[in-house]
Amino acid sequence: MSKNIIVIGSCNTDMVIKADRLPVPGETIIGGSFMMNPGGKGANQAVAAARLKGNVHFIAKTGNDLFGKRSIEQYEDEGIHVENIYSDPTLPSGVALIMVDMNGENSIAIASGANGSLSPEDIRKAQPTIEKGDILLMQLEIPIETVEYAAQIASEQGIKVILNPAPARALSNKLLQNLYMIIPNETEAEILSGVKVTDWESARKAADIISAKGVDIVVITLGSKGALIKEKDTFHEVPVPKVKAVDTTAAGDTFCGALCVALSEDVDVLDAVKFANKCASITVTRMGAQPSLPYRKEIDVL
Ligand code: ATP
Repeated sequence: MSKNIIVIGSCNTDMVIKADRLPVPGETIIGGSFMMNPGGKGANQAVAAARLKGNVHFIAKTGNDLFGKRSIEQYEDEGIHVENIYSDPTLPSGVALIMVDMNGENSIAIASGANGSLSPEDIRKAQPTIEKGDILLMQLEIPIETVEYAAQIASEQGIKVILNPAPARALSNKLLQNLYMIIPNETEAEILSGVKVTDWESARKAADIISAKGVDIVVITLGSKGALIKEKDTFHEVPVPKVKAVDTTAAGDTFCGALCVALSEDVDVLDAVKFANKCASITVTRMGAQPSLPYRKEIDVL
């Protein structure tokens, strides 16, 4: 059995309407199709890791409602351990309302609901599970004090704490110092470093600045270029397989989940990033978030 991956993060229900065009303020558009999918960066990354055969425990919070119950059933079907998904008695489950037009342009509103009440107290309740973990993966769609607290207790236990700092925001040095690895995309790397990241060279500069704040390993994802690794004083530029991209939604989530799975199987960081690139390049060839996440049997060999 591979090592335990703990994911702490958001879970939402995505309600997607596809129409000819996006409505302007005050307008009602009739027609189009409707889809309801599980989403949220935490859940996407947990499902990505589980489909790639990671042993995943998901720590999250839903509302005491049908959306929450349905999401938990779906995670169980994916083989995820759900004992530490808590229920908020008053807030609804997180929901994203997404409208997409014919050209793939979208407009999204997210009501975080119970995701916003996942607290340090909940993390204390989940501590026995966290302490069984080898890798802890988090993002920033839950309260920052919860992320900071979890990073602290996990790093004190020698657990490898990995942060995907999305959505982008500034982070305290204390949080950064508790991280084993950070995985920003270009925008997030710019917010953290002040360097506009557009190519390998600017990514190196950004990685230098971020690692100087105390993170052991910096992995910057660069979309269709691949990903840059900075580990100690060594850089690796890791290109991604060329594919026909149709929808990049959840590419970053696949990358993070896959990287954790490879690390949980004691693969070194360079090979883990190659694996993550391969997995994420499959996601971009398909539409949607969780429906596009690949299964392990689709990835040839590590
Ligand atoms: P998203 O928000 O769309 O999920 P992101 O902005 O967090 O993604 P990106 O840097 O765009 O992250 O992509 C993450 C990884 O996905 C890349 O490092 C790469 O492995 C893969 N990827 C993204 N776009 C492409 C593409 N066009 N072709 C192949 N692989 C891609």
